[in-house]
This record gives sequence, structure tokens and C-alpha cells, in this order.
Amino acid sequence: MRIYAFIAALFLLTSVYGQEKYPQNKFQSPLDIPLILAGNFGELRSNHFHSGIDIKTQQREGLAVYAIDDASVTRIKISHWGYGKALYITHPSGYTSVYAHLQKFSPKIEEYIKKIQYKKQSYQVETFPDFGELKVKKGEVIAYSGNTGGSSGPHLHFEIRSNTNSKPTNPLLYGYDIRDATDPTILNLYAYPLSNDAQINRSANKTQIKFKRQADGSYLADKVYASGTIGIGFNGYDRQDMAANKNGIYAIEQLVNGKTYSKFKFDSFSFAETRYINTLIDYQHYGKYSQRIVKCFKDPSNKLSIYSDLHNDGKIVVNNGLTYNVELLLKDWENNTTKIIIPIEGKVQELKSPKKVATTDNYLIAKKPNNYNLEGAKVYFPANTFYNDFYIDLKKGKDTVKIHNNEVPAHRNFTITFDVSKYSDTEKKQLFIARLNSKNLPIHATTYKRGNTFTTRTKNLGTYTLAKDTIAPVITPKNFKAKQWLNNYKYLSLKIVDDLSGIDTYNAYINGEWVLMSYEYKTNTITYNFDDKILNKKECNLKVIVTDNVGNSTTYKTTFYRK
Ligand SMILES: [Zn+2]
Repeated sequence: MRIYAFIAALFLLTSVYGQEKYPQNKFQSPLDIPLILAGNFGELRSNHFHSGIDIKTQQREGLAVYAIDDASVTRIKISHWGYGKALYITHPSGYTSVYAHLQKFSPKIEEYIKKIQYKKQSYQVETFPDFGELKVKKGEVIAYSGNTGGSSGPHLHFEIRSNTNSKPTNPLLYGYDIRDATDPTILNLYAYPLSNDAQINRSANKTQIKFKRQADGSYLADKVYASGTIGIGFNGYDRQDMAANKNGIYAIEQLVNGKTYSKFKFDSFSFAETRYINTLIDYQHYGKYSQRIVKCFKDPSNKLSIYSDLHNDGKIVVNNGLTYNVELLLKDWENNTTKIIIPIEGKVQELKSPKKVATTDNYLIAKKPNNYNLEGAKVYFPANTFYNDFYIDLKKGKDTVKIHNNEVPAHRNFTITFDVSKYSDTEKKQLFIARLNSKNLPIHATTYKRGNTFTTRTKNLGTYTLAKDTIAPVITPKNFKAKQWLNNYKYLSLKIVDDLSGIDTYNAYINGEWVLMSYEYKTNTITYNFDDKILNKKECNLKVIVTDNVGNSTTYKTTFYRK
């Protein structure tokens, strides 16, 4: 009896232990406001899954950000783009928590990083302090929330990375409480023919399926007549309480006649696999309509580790005369579930719309390297740049090449090389490779210039051209005037803009000494903080030099007074 109890207790303990991969309620909140999310973990973003949660900061910046547990700062990164000002702290348990888009760090961390910025004479820096060098306590203010980098509004991007493999994990696994009583929303439903003989409602192409809400809250789709191997896709979102933000759906399950055909959820993924998001969504549809349809079947090229259950890779083989009941379950973290039922009847019918395939002269085999010579420009795709074979559309023009369009995703970089031998040296200096955006505006692509060839490396298909930037950046003071007394000023800010190739570098000097200026590309502003240095001269000569991406440079000089 006792032995049994002991074994049972042991069993319970180990099973709980086995499950409790993630410590519960060990970590405190990084903010002292209710957690309302502007974005959740695993949310579908461009070329990646969101690796943390975005916590709304009440449309404000400067909220205290707390260490969620005792830790040591192990990485500080300041970048114009991406995470902006970001702090990584590693806890004794091995987990690393990440805080991004910060306005500034706590005074001791700020002092530590400013020394490095002044030493390197660069706003953008990345440093990895030794474990134990810069310790923080649980609940200590480590930073202030902001909107730096690629952030479209004030919020805190917060991550917890696993102790074993530094994979980002869903922060909600650790017991953070987010109020959510709202079911996920389904917007559209599609069926895909996957085998050559497949058909859906007399079509051999992707077909939209209509559905209606039932009295019990579930959705019922119109009956689908199909044959061959087909797959289901949907687009939708989840909302939490207290905010209208459209966030990602946590878990998805597809059942066919009661059997699970595919099941996946967002608890964790690796940065190495995140780009395979482009195989999870219908990328062609995304390129065309900027709308992400999630496929409930797994493409052969899809290497994502998010699946916990797969039968026939989620593909449904529909036989003539048989019926299939497909159930799609969309779940959020709180298990609020939206159910969609899709009745399918196997029926071979005469096709109304036969398979549409846009063919070109060039059928690209994805697993082989591919070279194309397009007069004046060459394109080289290394082996496995693409997930699938396809007819690639290539067009040559004057200093312009059309390399297919944005409806096909590339997994790796490919290179485009332009011949610039017909241009003078002066012109070569001003020219750069640009990608035309959806409005046909040239966007600077990092251009490697070597003699008579210009090369760029990119993962984006589309139209590339040679563009010329002859105009230097423009620098204008923002919060002061020349010869002004600036005694009570905390900051000095200037506006810097470039018309075409974009800002490459900027440097500022006061009385000949380099001073740190932060750069916010969203507002075209560079800012100097007067706390940085004691200005021991009454008359201060400010010099700002800004260079664009082809080397056009502007120097702005002014004098101000300060005591
Ligand atoms: Zn984020």
C-alpha cells in the first residue's frame, strides 16, 4: 500500500516534472500595467513568425521596464532598424528575456553602453557583456519602454528564449495572464487541388468556399464536391479582450471524419526555421492581395517544427461516392475555439475551369543552380533558392530587369549583376541598384561596386533598375536656431533627409569633438542629449556631416551658446 502510494507519488512527480518544461509564475511582469497585447507569439509576419509578445504601453513611451527575474545583462544592441534599443538578460535558470524598441536603458546600463558608443563613435552598437559583469535584480528597472527601430507605435516587445536551445518560446507558457474570452475569427476559407487529377466544385484551381454561422456558434461551409487529393486553407485572426488588435491564432487542428489530419500550435520555434512561414501560407495569394491564408496541409518544402500531429501531411484524398466531414478548429491561448465544418462529397464532374498555369520560356528547377543572362544584367539563383519549380518570368529593359514578381518566395539570397561599362566614373559613383516598390518608386538595394559591374544580393523577386542619386542629404535644425542660447535645453535635434538612395552615415561634432546622436528614421531626426558631455565653452560650434548611400555628403555648421 505504502509502496504503491510512493510509486504513484513518484510517478505523479515525474509526470508533472516532465510536463513542467516551463517554470510557472516564477517570472514577474516586465511592466506594471495590465498586459494587453498588440501582437502575440507566433503571429504571421513578413518572412517570419513573431518571436515574442507586443505589450501595449497605453500609447506612451517611458514606462518602467522591470527585470522579470534576477539576471545578468548578456547582450545590448542598438540599431536604427529592427529591435531599435534592445536588452537581453540571462537568468540563472538559463532562460534569456529580451526587451525591445526601448526608449532608453536604466542609468547604469545607459552609462555602460554610452561608453562603448563614444569609443566606437557610433550610435549603432552591439555588445555581449560577460555573465556577471552587469547584474540586475528581479523587479529592478532595467529600461524604459519606447518606439525605437521598426516599431509602428509605442509598445514593449518581450521575449523569453529557452534555456536549452535559445529558441524563442511563447511567454504565456510561463503563466502571464492575458484576459481573453473572445473566440478566434475566420474570414475566408479555400480548398486547393493538390493532385493532378484533383477538382473542387468543377474547378481544377484554388476555390473559395462559402460558410455560414450556425445557431450554436460554429460555422458550416457549403457542401464541396471534389475529387482527388485536396487541401484546406483559411485566413483569420484572434482578438484578446480590452483591445481591437488583430493578433495571431494560437493553435489549429484539422480533423477528417473525426481523425486528426493536422495539428499545430505556437509554443516555440527556432530562428533557423522561421522563414519557412512562406511555405505555411499561400504565398502567391499573399503577394497578390497582402492577405495570409494558412494552409492546413504541409508542403514537401515546409520544414517547420510546429506540427504535433500529421496524417498524410494534412492532405485529404477524396474518392468518388464517399463523403468526408472536415472540421477545422481555431483556438486561442485560453482555449476559446471557433469550429468550421466543411462537408465534402466525392464526385467527379466535368470541369468548368481547367487548371491555369502561367507558362514562360524559362522553367526553373529549384534544386539546381540557375543562371540567366538578360543583356546588361545577369541573375544567379544558387541551388534551392526556391521551394518549388516554376515558370520564371524574366524581362529585360534598359538598365532594368524584371525578375518575376512578388508572388514567389525565395528562401536564400540570389544575386543580380548589372553591367555599367557604358557609364562614366562620375555616373558610376552616383548610380546604385534599386528595387521598384509597388508604387514603382526606387528603393536602394545594397550595391557592391567593382569596376564595370554592380551587384546586389536579395531575397526579393521583382523589378530592379539602375537609379542615379545626384542630390546630397539636407540637414535642418529642428528645435533651435543659429546663435541661440540653449541653456535650458535637454536635447538638440536636427532633421536629416535624403531624396533617393537614403542616409548611410551621419556624424556630429561639438567644438571638434565627436558627439553621440541617436537616429530615428521614422521621423528623420537625429538627437543629441546634453547630459552626455559637459560643455566647458560658452560658444559651441556644431558640425553635422551626413552622407547618402552613394556618397553624396552635406556638412552643416552652426553656433549656439550654452552655460
Ligand atoms: Zn514585437
